[in-house]
Amino acid sequence: MIKLQNITKSFGRLQVLKGIDLVVEKGEVVAILGPSGSGKTTLLRCINYLEKPSDGEITIDDFTVNCKRPSKKDIHTLRGKTAMVFQQYNLFRHKTALENVMEGLVVVQKVEKEEARRRSIELLEKVGLGNKLNAYPSQLSGGQQQRVGIARALALNPEVILFDEPTSALDPELVGEVLAVIRNIAKEGITMIIVTHEMGFAHDVANHVVFMDEGIIVEEGKPNDIFVSPKEERTKQFLKRIT
Ligand code: ATP
Repeated sequence: MIKLQNITKSFGRLQVLKGIDLVVEKGEVVAILGPSGSGKTTLLRCINYLEKPSDGEITIDDFTVNCKRPSKKDIHTLRGKTAMVFQQYNLFRHKTALENVMEGLVVVQKVEKEEARRRSIELLEKVGLGNKLNAYPSQLSGGQQQRVGIARALALNPEVILFDEPTSALDPELVGEVLAVIRNIAKEGITMIIVTHEMGFAHDVANHVVFMDEGIIVEEGKPNDIFVSPKEERTKQFLKRIT
């Protein structure tokens, strides 16, 4: 279980997150929706301390970080429980697909190299890239690079995978292949939190939808609660605008 309590974040005078409370059960797929600038990406990055929250508490299973006074060890432990899939893939340009997936296993988790290689090949096959093990990012399409990013996140066997708008940098014809891979891994019971503008995908794949606006959670519920019978005026307006 992941529990966020009163997560607050300011950049200078701009308060971007105004006290977010959210509980994510094990195996849930959570879609975070909301207008541009509402704080979705900032919230996601706070969960693994890529952004330092100004206040609040983050709990993953039985481990809690008090964001006012986190130790280096707390942050390290928290990061070990999460993996991130970035909008711009963030692959090492000078490493092959296989080396990119192996990196975290060998360097961070100290897995023996042959074992890391075996697991990484398995995961690249799973995302449909068994024939691209030795390709460099520059030799791969955006969709293929993002699938390497997903294999890399899976390799770490995290408690939760955080997806930050995983398809928004892709050409429209490449979006489907990445969503199909995410859809597939969602079936395996891995906890996932996905910031996305893909409403159809969120409706189909998520089992918990969160609508944010201006740094707060306006409304959350099952996909039909939000997409079919939203209660809040702000949610209704947002859905009207984008569909
Ligand atoms: P989008 O859907 O456009 O990606 P978002 O809901 O993910 O938007 P965030 O990226 O979290 O929104 O940004 C929320 C607000 O915080 C915006 O006003 C943004 O300009 C501001 N912001 C984000 N990162 C920083 C930063 N590093 N420094 C200053 N302001 C920032």
